[in-house]
Amino acid sequence: MEKLIITVAPTGAQTTREHTPYVPLTPKEIADSIYESWKAGAAIGHVHVRDIMGENTMDLKVYQEVIDRVQEKCDIILNLTTAGGLETTEEERLRVCELNPEMATFDAGSMNFGEGVFYNTPSFLEKLAEETQKRNIKPEIEAFDVGMIHNALRIAKKGLIEEPFHFQFVLGIAGGMPATPKNLMHMVESIPDGSTWSAIGASKHQLTINTMSILLGGHVRVGMEDSIYFRKGELAQTNAQFVTRIVELADTLGREVATPEEARQILSMQPKSESIGGRT
Ligand code: ZN
Repeated sequence: MEKLIITVAPTGAQTTREHTPYVPLTPKEIADSIYESWKAGAAIGHVHVRDIMGENTMDLKVYQEVIDRVQEKCDIILNLTTAGGLETTEEERLRVCELNPEMATFDAGSMNFGEGVFYNTPSFLEKLAEETQKRNIKPEIEAFDVGMIHNALRIAKKGLIEEPFHFQFVLGIAGGMPATPKNLMHMVESIPDGSTWSAIGASKHQLTINTMSILLGGHVRVGMEDSIYFRKGELAQTNAQFVTRIVELADTLGREVATPEEARQILSMQPKSESIGGRT
């Protein structure tokens, strides 16, 4: 099996200080959490940013501060969210690509998301795919159900997403596929040969989906975006804590963990010539 790529998603769009006092919200807190997670074994940092009130923002200056702070300290791959929150406009979402990150999320379809609706219209997705392609940004194709995989493949057929594809399966969100072994297997069997994949289990499903992914040859994402609990009834105090648990589990299960440079190779990422959010 290839080495295991661990993504850390420290903040997300929805976790607040009311949920947990430990979620990093300021640029410094987010960057420090990503750096601590890199030290623990994470190869990718998935970034959402917040304004001074702790609310979701798509302000490029705030993203840039996180990028600069992280890149001062380590070579972790940065994967910027192009989703933001459910209220974020298409223009704001597309603008994130201007930061030229090495990787960005590509949410491959619309769905009910908790009590809201997550809009990803066909025309928006084509624009986003074009933008990532033009700027040599690796799209992380997030699929919350099997239909989204085929949605992405339809856009790829138009020449807007290039192989090899990298998928992130998101299981256990209210409105998406439940986090079951059968659903994960179905997702894995639905992607083209040569693709890479990772999986997220929302909230209490984080560790079980992570464990299945390690065994099946996929990759994993952890962090307070997905779960604030380390185990039942116990809040995680740091994001690195989740990463450390995965490193230990991977070791127990005989899977080596990838460095950021190894992750770039596994994901067939092209070197970026000029980059702000890319490698230093
Ligand atoms: Zn996210």
